[in-house]
Amino acid sequence: MITQQQELWTQFLHFVEERSSSIEYNNWFAAIRLIRATSEEITLEVPNIFVREYLLSNYKKDLVTFLPMRSNGEPAIVFVVAEAQEKELLPIQVATPASSVVAEEQTFKLNPHYTFDNFIEGASNQFVKSAALGVAMRPGRSYNPLFIHGGVGLGKTHLLHAIGHWVKDNHKKLRVQCITTEGFINDLVDNLRNKSIDRMKKFYRTLDVFLVDDIQFLQNRLNFEEEFCNTFESLINQNKQIIITSDKPPGQLKLSERMIARMEWGLVAHVGVPDLETRVAILQYKAEQRGLRIPHKVAFFIAEHIFNNVRQLEGALNRLSAYSRLMGKEVTEEIVHESLGELIETKPTQRVCVENILKSVATIFGVRISDLRGTSRTKEVAFPRQVAMYLAKELINDSLMKLASAFGGKTHSTLLHAWKKIGDQVEKDETLKRQIQMARRNLESDTDLKK
Ligand code: ADP
Ligand code: MG
Repeated sequence: MITQQQELWTQFLHFVEERSSSIEYNNWFAAIRLIRATSEEITLEVPNIFVREYLLSNYKKDLVTFLPMRSNGEPAIVFVVAEAQEKELLPIQVATPASSVVAEEQTFKLNPHYTFDNFIEGASNQFVKSAALGVAMRPGRSYNPLFIHGGVGLGKTHLLHAIGHWVKDNHKKLRVQCITTEGFINDLVDNLRNKSIDRMKKFYRTLDVFLVDDIQFLQNRLNFEEEFCNTFESLINQNKQIIITSDKPPGQLKLSERMIARMEWGLVAHVGVPDLETRVAILQYKAEQRGLRIPHKVAFFIAEHIFNNVRQLEGALNRLSAYSRLMGKEVTEEIVHESLGELIETKPTQRVCVENILKSVATIFGVRISDLRGTSRTKEVAFPRQVAMYLAKELINDSLMKLASAFGGKTHSTLLHAWKKIGDQVEKDETLKRQIQMARRNLESDTDLKK
């Protein structure tokens, strides 16, 4: 006989099913069994405590509207963990499930080439590199978490693994785990399926250093975000070091406010596109490693034409190196043309120039262009000038020195300072963010006209 309470539980499930994705529903609800239902309370069998926590932290309000409630406002549910029941019945089989996949069994997947020694510094990554080294040297005691963000191919994973190597080499007792966000999610799914979630939780929550690559993949994965956040909090509360990489700053990720706030707790560091000098240095360094000699002028030529990210630069170098070996020729500009062809045939599209940046910043802030180039330090002028410097560094791929001199002969450290300051401020200041967006749009429509 179906009691009213059983019927209410079924209604609750329908209610959830309509509001959640099928993955979420299957992950969390499909395995729950209603064992008993009276007008005072119901008894649910869940595969693990994790499901109970999930249910209570996400659906408590809904549960009490459908099901009996205790006097303290809590849903009147008794949870029975399925595994525990089995253990009682079959004491011989208490061993953990045979097929469970726990991260511990995974091999340590650090790329051997991604070390601090192999990381070339320049203005765009100096700050983030020293932050990374800082946490590697004193895990859990400097910035926690360290959040590294930036575009593709700029060295985020490299730095993450470099921290891993350093900790492994210098703090041998510490337990380190490096994982991609996808890997974490897969682990979670496997362990849920194998009812070994408690082991997995224990594994992650007893780490000393937790390295998480590409957190952006946690977006739109609501049910996993919760567990990630719990792991995160548990580690942080024990002063265990967490390092996260992402293609966007925390505030721009589509994650819960709770998660974003946690990620902003420590230090948020940006890794930018390397400027021309740094690109040349990276190129020369990597060429040397491959036993390839590139004349300085040729390296400059390549770095001028390939400017989006380091991965591209490496790709070009691999092609060049293979070609020159095959042909048995030294690297010259001619060889570069022959081997890299279309990669460098297109002229570096210098889409935006300092002149146009000054024009649009002057319009937006209501100041004169000559003031922006001048030396006045009054706030009305100095601030827009820094904004223009920021935009110049962000939008133009030229050496810092050259850019700075376009501002009426400023030094490159002035420009760099402005870039850092405005870069930090823009993440907190909505007005400034809009002004910068406006300038960018303005500049882009300018270049569209010229095409
Ligand atoms: P991301 O994770 O930001 O997409 P990666 O860390 O995978 O980028 O870097 C892409 C490639 O570029 C890797 O081979 C990495 O070693 C190299 N690389 C990036 N930045 C640097 C740097 N500053 N010095 C040396 N190699 C770099
Ligand atoms: Mg990466």
